Amino acid sequence: MPTLILADFSKTLTAPTSKTTWSLFKESGLFPADYAAKRDEFFETYRPLELEGDNAMVSEWFGKHLDLLVEYWASGKMADVVHSSLDNETLLPREGLEEFLAYVKDSGTALRIVSSGISELIQKFLALHGAKLSIGFPEKTSSGIYANDLVLHDGTRNVRTPADKLYATASLIDGFDRVVVLGDAPEDFAVPGVRYVEGGKVRGYSLTDETIVPGVAFLGKDASLTDLIDRIA
Ligand SMILES: [Mg+2]
Repeated sequence: MPTLILADFSKTLTAPTSKTTWSLFKESGLFPADYAAKRDEFFETYRPLELEGDNAMVSEWFGKHLDLLVEYWASGKMADVVHSSLDNETLLPREGLEEFLAYVKDSGTALRIVSSGISELIQKFLALHGAKLSIGFPEKTSSGIYANDLVLHDGTRNVRTPADKLYATASLIDGFDRVVVLGDAPEDFAVPGVRYVEGGKVRGYSLTDETIVPGVAFLGKDASLTDLIDRIA
């Protein structure tokens, strides 16, 4: 019976000290100063609106930043951005990531990464740690990455919904008998219509100090992903 692990990316599969995927391009030093200036301008305009919970404006912000990344040929530099980010420690794996990805592969568990970050960067980072994931989900119960795609395949800009609404896409969990939700923040656990109860279809696993919902396993902020394997196996 197929099991799905629905996982956030930033600070869940990456270390809690890592930066978000959106900030790594500037931090990498691989892009010119005028990219950084435009990126900062967007940040100053849209960040206050994000804090007000204006999701429409956050989508607009993502779209503008994606266009900027296309303008500066970021897709061709993605592997370099990941390597640079690992070198300067702005992006690090959470402890136990490789063991966790090996478990997922060996056990035939589907892994779907749902993130408000950038698909290609997540894909490259995970490939370095042993997981070959497609962008999107080619088959009903396959693994994949659901985030903002920089390389477009259908000619349309595919701006995803901000993180707190991502899990509202109920089709993400269709076809699975058991779903484990893995995240580091309360909004990572917002799967509407699904109750987090022991023995229920979906169970949540918090990797922060906060106990999110009744019945979830509490792993704490220093939790290793290896610890998770015993709990979900
Ligand atoms: Mg996160």
